[in-house]
Amino acid sequence: MPSDSALSIVWIYPDLLSTYGDQGNVLVLEQRARRRGIETETIHVRSADPIPETGDIYLIGGGEDRPQILAAERLRRDGGLHRAIARGAAMLAVCAGYQIMGSTFGGEEGQPVDGIGLLDIASSRGPARAVGELVAEVDAALNLPTLTGFENHMGITHLGPGVKPLSRTIKGIGNGDGFEGCYAGHVVGTYLHGPALARNPALADLLLAWRVGELAPLDDSRYEALRQERLATVLQH
Ligand code: GLN
Repeated sequence: MPSDSALSIVWIYPDLLSTYGDQGNVLVLEQRARRRGIETETIHVRSADPIPETGDIYLIGGGEDRPQILAAERLRRDGGLHRAIARGAAMLAVCAGYQIMGSTFGGEEGQPVDGIGLLDIASSRGPARAVGELVAEVDAALNLPTLTGFENHMGITHLGPGVKPLSRTIKGIGNGDGFEGCYAGHVVGTYLHGPALARNPALADLLLAWRVGELAPLDDSRYEALRQERLATVLQH
């Protein structure tokens, strides 16, 4: 179980949802916390294990349809994630993990599968697989720079009134309606892989700040140059 002092990062179901390199989100959070002298402790929760309820930041990644269905069933039966979020934990849910947070999502034949109802969203199968680079302008209230990443999903996601769009797509499909991802409270859902927090360190800092308060600035000039280069290239094509 997490110790009292360290920031605890919970990586949910690496045995089911770790297909697209999203575990990198864990590493980025750890590194950006440690560079500021914040001690971290990471808990990898396999799908046979209970979800700890006292974590600070929960991360869940993308995956294929069948493991996604299994993950949804186990999370629903477990119930710990709901309790952790109710206690004020932050979360980043990516792609399959994002869809699972809603009321429903499309299974391997497109059939509706129950999600866990943590976010007011509903996903279903879209007209075609969305594959490629995604660029999106973030909701001004969050005060974050342009998001970049890649997407690879069949699902599209409808947002209900209980969530806000995370960003507006400039390139790519995202939710399928001109927006990408959503947020509510301290929970963020997104289709971005990359991993998302490596491509968008400011998003990592948002999650950290939600738990630890104001953060010391870091010198990100090297990463920022790479980010700008990538953005320029993607927007040219
Ligand atoms: N299986 C889901 C879809 O295709 C999620 C895919 C993913 O996580 N990349 O929409």
